[in-house]
Amino acid sequence: AKQSGKDRCRFFDASLWDALVERTRLENDLRGAVERDELVLHFQPKLSARTMGLRGVEALARWRHPDLGDIPPDTFVKIAEQAGFGIALDSSILRLAVQRIRAWMDQGVKRRIAVNISAPQFMRPEFVGEVLSLLDAHGVDPELLELEVTERIVMADFAEARRRMDDLQTAGVRISIDDFGTGYSNLSQLSQLSFDMLKIDKSLVDGIGASAKSEAILTAVIQMAHALGHTVVAEGVELAEQHAFLQQLGCDEVQGYLFSHPLPEAELEAWEAQRGRV
Ligand code: C2E
Ligand code: CA
Ligand code: CA
Ligand code: CA
Repeated sequence: AKQSGKDRCRFFDASLWDALVERTRLENDLRGAVERDELVLHFQPKLSARTMGLRGVEALARWRHPDLGDIPPDTFVKIAEQAGFGIALDSSILRLAVQRIRAWMDQGVKRRIAVNISAPQFMRPEFVGEVLSLLDAHGVDPELLELEVTERIVMADFAEARRRMDDLQTAGVRISIDDFGTGYSNLSQLSQLSFDMLKIDKSLVDGIGASAKSEAILTAVIQMAHALGHTVVAEGVELAEQHAFLQQLGCDEVQGYLFSHPLPEAELEAWEAQRGRV
C-alpha cells in the first residue's frame, strides 16, 4: 500500500487535473449565479387531460454558463448539493417563482406554479416558515404555489416528511408527489400522508402501448389515487396515443412535449395567446 502513493501520482495526469479545475470553476460560477439570482425559470404547462385547459405550470430551472452554454438542471442541482449550497439554490428558485406568480397577478393572471424541492431543503425545520413568509412578503395566495417532492424524499424520513406536509397543507400550499412509480414507495404507505397531487413518472407513461404490465399498473394507480382523493397528473406525455389512454383512465392532468416543452416566460405567453385564438 505504501508504494501505491507513487503509483497514484502517475495516474494523476493532466486530464484529471483539468477535470478538477473545470469542476471547481463550475462550482464557483454556479455559486455566483445562485447568489445573484441569475438562474432562469422555464415553465411547462400542466393541462386538464379532458378540456386541455391550463391548470398551472411547472418551473424548471435553467442555467446558461457564459462559456459552456446550457447546463442541464439535474447536473447543476447535484453540483450545488455536493458543494453545500443546494439549499441556497432551492431558495433562489422558490423566490424567483413567487416573484413570477406576483408579476402575473399584477397583470391580472392567477396562475399556479409548481416548484421542485430537493430533500435537504424540504427537511429543514425552518422550511415551512420561510415559504409562508416569502408568500406573505409578496402578497401571494398560498394556493398559487405547489411544491413537488419526490416519493424518494418522503420515504427517507416518513415522520418528518408527514409533519412538513401537514403544515404546508394547513397553510393552503399544494403538494405533489413527483416521480411516482419509480419504485421507492407504494400507495398504501403514501395514503398516510396528506397531499394533493400524484405525479406519475414518465417511465410508466412510456409503457403505454408498449407494455401490458405498465398499462395495468397505471390503471390500478389512477383508480387508487382517486379513491384516496388525489388529483393524478401524468408527466412526459409525448404521443397522442398516450394522452388518449390516460384520458380514458380518468387521469386528471397531463404534461409533456406533446403539448409543450418548458418555455421561457415570454414564449409561454405567446403559446397561450395562440391557443386562445384557436
Ligand atoms: P422532473 O421534476 O421530473 O421534471 C421533468 C423533466 O422532464 C424536465 O427535465 C422536463 O423538461 C422533462 N420533460 C417534460 N416533458 C417531457 C417529455 O414529454 N419528454 C421528455 N423526454 N422529457 C420531458 P429538466 O428540465 O431537464 O429537469 C430535470 C430534473 O431536474 C427535474 O426532473 C428535477 O428533478 C430537476 N430540476 C429541475 N429544476 C429544478 C429546480 O428548480 N429545483 C430542483 N431541486 N430540481 C430541479
Ligand atoms: Ca417535477
Ligand atoms: Ca417528475
Ligand atoms: Ca422525473
